[in-house]
Amino acid sequence: MHIAIDEAKCMGHGRCYGVAPTLLHDDEEGFVAERGQCWKVPDELLGEAQDAADACPEGAIELLEQAPA
Ligand code: SF4
Repeated sequence: MHIAIDEAKCMGHGRCYGVAPTLLHDDEEGFVAERGQCWKVPDELLGEAQDAADACPEGAIELLEQAPA
């Protein structure tokens, strides 16, 4: 499973890294530091990834079976 964070949609609410502190981190402005990135989630962090996607009020976090082409 891959996680993708849409940079344009992220408004810096900070809910994602609050519920997924191992997977995601905040930057100095309160946005998720990994915005604009897409990467493969380690199996042990799939729960955090799902929680982060569920927590984002902007729908900025997508979980994808495959990496985008
Ligand atoms: S919860 Fe959503 S809007 Fe807030 S920092 Fe995370 S990705 Fe951005």
